[in-house]
Amino acid sequence: MRMSHLLAPTLREVPAEAEIISHQLLMRAGFIRRVSPGVYTYLPLMWRVLKKVEEIVRQEMDRAGAQELMMPILLPADLWMASGRWFVYGKEMFRLKNRHDRDELLGPTHEELITDIAKNEIRSYRQLPINLYQIQNKFRDEIRPRFGLLRGREFIMKDSYSFHSDEKSLEETYEVMCRAYTRIFERCGLSTRMVDSDVGAIGGSSAHEFMVVVETDAGENALLYCDSCQYAANVERAESRIEIVPGAFEEQEPLEKIPTPNMKTIDDLSAFLKVLPNRIVKTLIYQAEGFGEKMEEKKFVAVLIRGDVPVNEVKLKNTLACYELRLATDEEISALGTISGFVGPIGLKLRVLADESVREMKNFVLGPNEKDQHLVHANWGRDYEPKEWVDVRQSQVGEQCSRCGGELKQARGIEVGNTFKLGTKYSSKMGATFTDVDGTEKPFVMGCYGIGVSRTAQAAVEACHDKNGIVWPVPIAPYHLVVVPVNVGDPVQKEAAESLYRQAQEAGIEVILDDRDERPGVKFKDADLIGFPLRITVGKTITEGNVELKERQGGEVILVPLNEAIEKAKSMLGIR
Ligand SMILES: [Zn+2]
Repeated sequence: MRMSHLLAPTLREVPAEAEIISHQLLMRAGFIRRVSPGVYTYLPLMWRVLKKVEEIVRQEMDRAGAQELMMPILLPADLWMASGRWFVYGKEMFRLKNRHDRDELLGPTHEELITDIAKNEIRSYRQLPINLYQIQNKFRDEIRPRFGLLRGREFIMKDSYSFHSDEKSLEETYEVMCRAYTRIFERCGLSTRMVDSDVGAIGGSSAHEFMVVVETDAGENALLYCDSCQYAANVERAESRIEIVPGAFEEQEPLEKIPTPNMKTIDDLSAFLKVLPNRIVKTLIYQAEGFGEKMEEKKFVAVLIRGDVPVNEVKLKNTLACYELRLATDEEISALGTISGFVGPIGLKLRVLADESVREMKNFVLGPNEKDQHLVHANWGRDYEPKEWVDVRQSQVGEQCSRCGGELKQARGIEVGNTFKLGTKYSSKMGATFTDVDGTEKPFVMGCYGIGVSRTAQAAVEACHDKNGIVWPVPIAPYHLVVVPVNVGDPVQKEAAESLYRQAQEAGIEVILDDRDERPGVKFKDADLIGFPLRITVGKTITEGNVELKERQGGEVILVPLNEAIEKAKSMLGIR
């Protein structure tokens, strides 16, 4: 391909919509363009990257014994009603009606259809295990699409589903898939960490995420990991121990109500009363929305938690079994008969959940539901007794690993893959059974495994870039090599560059010839921004028969005779 005809519109300015470096670079280097929020066109360079990621995924899935198929994106609602998810998936599902007024949806994932296929087409244990996958566009109506391809409304995913006669067989395939995933990301030039994750909306018994660990603050996933053991988990899921609060062994003191004018936050209250935040019980009111088949139902709940620890809203959502969750507004709090900043559980006509972090507390500060007042020396039992104890605390860096007591550290990760043991969750509900060896009908035991293809490509940029642009790992680079004649007006340079371009093509190197009549500085800047792994520069040294080779990563320029340049390039790129 000639650069003069390549559709790679590079930008000098950083686009305002791009918050993180990988998104900025993909826009600036002319890989993607936004069509609407969370929806992108993959321009030619990006499409080449995506096809390469797909090909690596395909090869490793095939090698792991999986079979590729292709299911439709447009799905009938009845299958999703059979699984119950039509009612519980929430607002992230794109729902539509066809001209016959029947409900349909754009697939966010395909457990229902694949389970239906297994139900209709797989009869006997002899056909098991079987692992089926597809690579396809998926749709999710994200409330706030952002970070380019990392949280889009339309994205490319590899999804696979395995069917088994028992748990042991699922366990074996699950391990095979986890190994395949590690290889896939390694082959893409990425190092990943496999972490425990929240089971979330898909459900099932066990789940892992594959995270590309990045040094930037991109992405929504923070992980906590332990250096002393192998424990690593998404913060949404992470468990930890916290220290027993000071005062846990004090005698109860008499309850008092004291004026605390305008002391609405924990910090203000802590300074004003001269007590540590861990001696204050926070009462937070949430609005939970959507329960079971009642998607529109809304309920307010109060959560009691220690003043110095945050609520983990994912844990809270799972505890409440609701689909949406947010903090109540000041107006909603007033309507509930209390006042923001002074809320407490005593006399509150709401369901109250008490986090385990407050259980051992004694003589603590509590809201009285009265403006500019707080209770001090409150105690459980005597003053109020929580009925429901829950774990909705967010684990934090520096706390102790719940497995070994080591210190938890934090890293940022971009999730590129996930694996779930579904068990019989879908097959039981949808009546998908097979005849087992003893002649009985049993529901399939299932696993499912996803890889975000477009996500992986952007995660690679987040992990591999420098101040000048993208540094593509060779296996997924859009092209391997760019040949840059410094002066296209010079016939000797031009001819040498053309010759290198032809030779590279014949040698199986994916090559761009930068034949534009631009200043060399512009060409070098673009080459670095786009991130070609290797550059051959044809300049003045051509009069002595030499050209310059430069790797994008590392950046050392080496002088090579013209007739050896392509052989050298091949070996540097690892192409045989
Ligand atoms: Zn540990």
